[in-house]
Amino acid sequence: MANSKVNHSPQKPGANNNTAAMGEGQGSNKLQRKWEVYPGRNKFFCNGRIVSSPDIQGFLCCMALIIVTGGLFFALDCPYLAVKVHPVIPVVGGVLFILIIGCLVQTTFIDPGIIPRATLPEALETDRLYQLECQNQENAANNGAYQPPRYKEVMIKGRQFKLSYCQTCQMYRPPRASHCSRCNNCVERFDHHCPMVSNCIGKRNYRYFYLFVTFTALMCCYVLGCNVAVIVLRAKDTDIGEAFKKSAGSIIEGVICLGCLASVGGLSCYHSMLVCKEQTTNEDIKGTYNPRKFKDASNPYSHGNFITNCCAVLCGPRHPSLIDRRGFVDPSEDTQAIVDTANARGRIPGALHV
Ligand SMILES: [Zn+2]
Ligand SMILES: [Zn+2]
Repeated sequence: MANSKVNHSPQKPGANNNTAAMGEGQGSNKLQRKWEVYPGRNKFFCNGRIVSSPDIQGFLCCMALIIVTGGLFFALDCPYLAVKVHPVIPVVGGVLFILIIGCLVQTTFIDPGIIPRATLPEALETDRLYQLECQNQENAANNGAYQPPRYKEVMIKGRQFKLSYCQTCQMYRPPRASHCSRCNNCVERFDHHCPMVSNCIGKRNYRYFYLFVTFTALMCCYVLGCNVAVIVLRAKDTDIGEAFKKSAGSIIEGVICLGCLASVGGLSCYHSMLVCKEQTTNEDIKGTYNPRKFKDASNPYSHGNFITNCCAVLCGPRHPSLIDRRGFVDPSEDTQAIVDTANARGRIPGALHV
């Protein structure tokens, strides 16, 4: 079911996709859906309804670890604690477990906020405007041997930002967007590419990622607490050596949870700080709002206080997907021409990233 027809070459996006589209289209006149000729590296399932990154192994490992640890907890600790302490203990564990699985699946299999690449007319128009700008500059006389960095300057709430040009997507990236080299596309409000959940973390799936990390950290604490309770209660009935012997499964769970908590706990705290400030990991690493790096380091996306920021990030409306992956390809669209045009421009890659 996965998209196996698409060539994922980063150098020539769309080159072989077009061949695939034309090959089938010419032979059978069958309309192809856009996901079938999508130039990025993403994988599509269920006829384009589900999208994920090219490497799904991280998600599978993560899911296996959660199911094994959860299975041990529900099979070994819950029956004992439900009788000895309170029947609500497995219920709380069950709710957390379902929330973790739900958030993980959402994070991995929804469009993180992929920005569609420019169409040929859009790319040509951008290029024409850029060439016009170059004509007014001294170095334009070099007949294209050198072109200055391509960027646009925009003002957002009184602060100036540079929008860099993405050579692959043939457009100026919107503010906060970045190009993911793993998925080979630009993503809105790009946070980072997470190999653990096998997807980019962006505008559309950030809240699920944050909740997944936070619920996992809570579940680890909960399971660890239950493990300790099981050993203490058994030690009361017998002796401590016998209690450890009977609780071998709980000890294995505890070790796994401690390991997970060391990574997920720190990640949850870090992202809680970012949510309160309405920042992304990408912006934090680049120091976009660091007063030591920039004279004007104000964050125009912050709502002023941490409560409003949390509400905006975690409870705001879910934005629609911009890639019409289930739409049909227009037979008159020549995607190869976009690639040829881009190559013909002979750009200097180093000069493109500002
Ligand atoms: Zn891009
Ligand atoms: Zn990515």
